[in-house]
Amino acid sequence: MNSDRGVVIITGGASGIGLAIARAAVGEGWKVLLADLTQPALDAAKAQVDAIKPGATRTVVMDVANEDAVIAGLKDCENGFGPVRGLVNSAGIGRQVPFFETSVKLFREILDINLVGTFAVAKEAARMMKAHGGGAIVNVASVSGIRGNIERSAYGASKGGVITLTQVMAAELAPLKIRVNAIAPGPFETPMVQEMHTTETREAWMQVVPQRRYAEPAEVAGAAMFLLDDSKSSFVTGHVLNVDGGFAAHGLLPK
Ligand code: NAD
Repeated sequence: MNSDRGVVIITGGASGIGLAIARAAVGEGWKVLLADLTQPALDAAKAQVDAIKPGATRTVVMDVANEDAVIAGLKDCENGFGPVRGLVNSAGIGRQVPFFETSVKLFREILDINLVGTFAVAKEAARMMKAHGGGAIVNVASVSGIRGNIERSAYGASKGGVITLTQVMAAELAPLKIRVNAIAPGPFETPMVQEMHTTETREAWMQVVPQRRYAEPAEVAGAAMFLLDDSKSSFVTGHVLNVDGGFAAHGLLPK
C-alpha cells in the first residue's frame, strides 16, 4: 500500500458519506483535509479519523456555496501538509418537497450548494493538481440525478448537473492527467437521510432497491478508494459508479 499518496480534500467531511470516505482514506495512506461548515463538527470528525491514524488529518471551515470562502479555505492548505492529489466533493443538502411547494429560492439554494459548490471546489483543487502533474476527483452525485425520483425537483436536478459536470470535467481535464468520476449512492443511513426520509419514503425505497435495505456509510468507501487510486483506475474517467443496492438497474416490476 502506498504510504504517501498526498492530500485528499473531502468536503462535507464531518458527517455521513464524507466522513466514511475520510476514515478509509487515511487507512490507504492519504492525508485528509476535512472541509465542512462548523469547527465543532470538524473537531469531532477529526477525532474519529485521528483514532485510525494520528496526525494525518487537518480541518477547514468552508461553505462550498461561497466562492470567496472556498478560495480562502484552500489557499494555504498544502503548506506543511502535502500536495493535493485528490478531491471528494461530498458536501450537499437534500430536500424532498412537492413540485408546487418548491420555491425558486429553495431551488437556487440547493443548486448553489450541491452543484455550484462542487464546481467551485473542483476548480480550486484542479488548479493545485495541475501544478503537481495530475490527480483524481470524485463527485458524490445520487441515483436521484439519474432517475426522476418524485418530490426531488431541485435535488435531482442538482445531482443530474453534478453528473454532467463530471463528464465535462473528465473530458477537459484529461490532458492534465486529472481524472474525474462520480459516485451515485442509493439510500445510505446518514444524518441527511434520517432528516429527509419519512416512514413512507423508507417503505417506498424498500420496494425499488433490490437489496431491500439502506446501506451503512462505510459501504461507499471502497468505490471512492478505487476511483481515487491511480494504480487501480488509471483509465477510468467520466464514469458514474452506482452504489445503490441495484436501484438503478431495477425494472420496477412488483417483486
Ligand atoms: P450528511 O448530512 O451526513 O453529510 C453532508 C455534510 O455536508 C454535512 O456534514 C454538512 O454539514 C455538509 N454541508 C452541507 N452544506 C455544506 C456547505 N454549504 N458547505 C460545506 N459543507 C456542507 O449527508 P450524507 O448523506 O453523508 O451526504 C453526503 C453526500 O452524499 C451529499 O452530497 C448527498 O447529496 C449525497 N447522497 C447521499 C445519499 C444518502 O442516502 N445518504 C444518497 C445519495 C447521495
